[in-house]
Amino acid sequence: TAPHQHRLAVGIDLGTTNSLVATVRNSIPEVLNDEAGRPLLPSIVRYLPNGNAHIGYKAQAAQTTDPKNTILSVKRFMGRGLKDIAYAENLPYDFLDAPGMVQLKTVAGVKSPVEISAEILATLRQQAEDALGDDLVGAVITVPAYFDDAQRQATKDAAKLAGLNVLRLLNEPTAAAIAYGLDNASEGVYVVYDLGGGTFDISILKLTKGVFEVLATGGDSALGGDDFDHRLFCWISKEAQLSPLSDEDTRVLMVKAREAKELLSTKAEVTIDAALSSGERVHLLLTSEIFDEITKHLVAKTLTPTRKALRDADLSADDVDGVVLVGGATRMPSIRKAVGDYFHTTPLANIDPDKVVALGAAIQANLLAGN
Ligand code: AMP
Repeated sequence: TAPHQHRLAVGIDLGTTNSLVATVRNSIPEVLNDEAGRPLLPSIVRYLPNGNAHIGYKAQAAQTTDPKNTILSVKRFMGRGLKDIAYAENLPYDFLDAPGMVQLKTVAGVKSPVEISAEILATLRQQAEDALGDDLVGAVITVPAYFDDAQRQATKDAAKLAGLNVLRLLNEPTAAAIAYGLDNASEGVYVVYDLGGGTFDISILKLTKGVFEVLATGGDSALGGDDFDHRLFCWISKEAQLSPLSDEDTRVLMVKAREAKELLSTKAEVTIDAALSSGERVHLLLTSEIFDEITKHLVAKTLTPTRKALRDADLSADDVDGVVLVGGATRMPSIRKAVGDYFHTTPLANIDPDKVVALGAAIQANLLAGN
């Protein structure tokens, strides 16, 4: 490679539910879509009897038909033994309690979480090389700030297996802060509030001389946007006075609840309409006031780990110089308001909260590649 040539480097957000790959082109960070124009790759791998695997959307469809060979949320197994995995007995997988890291028995043979993650990373690498038309010199991969050495090493091993040169692992909250350019901002304390579909993470970062240090982390691994869907589903069932629902009608209403929740982030009210297989009809008006009222306990629930993390860092809310929002569920106005009120500052939210981590990783990768 000639020295003046742009060296292709990417940032990868290897997420529990979805993964993304991003790069910096013409000085602008951008997510690289797949050939169908989709930015997110579902972090799902399905193994087939012939030894091959389907990854992403193609694997997603098999979630219900072939659960044993369709691995979701493999990130939770990285660098973990069977005893460390919460509710492993409720998962549809055939676990093998190997020394060090748990393994999964699939129709294509025994697979380690490292191999499964490598399938996702290899797919993203291909997606990036197709979009950029050249080989990559390296990647920055993000990991949760609370990942221990075994989890970090497993992530590096997966990248190597996927043929990626790891320039660096980067903490997810740090990546989000970099996407907002906070590393060039004044020194101080920054909070990253990350509310996804199923998990809540809070991180307290301290910026000194352009370097972020993680002062404290916390969260709730069973709190996220899905809980708002469920609460709304219960409200719909009660308001419409529905009789006990079949599995199919439950699924239909859960989808309606999620759609209504997402619409309320940009509208003052929505109509919920559904014709159920029971013959019952749902027709309800939902205002943002009602939605906020029935979900306010969930919003408040995120502030408990937030308070604890601040206490662990020996800080109070007023010591915080800025707050960054990450995760799709932070689009809810009630979340933005609660976070703003708590920290007495308007949270940074103008970058897509689903992409901000990948974009920050891309900026870091671009720097490390020497561009
Ligand atoms: P993530 O895990 O970061 O992809 O976040 C997924 C969660 O974000 C799900 O609960 C989605 O329903 C939620 N979400 C996505 N878009 C919106 C929106 N416009 N308003 C509220 N929640 C949303």
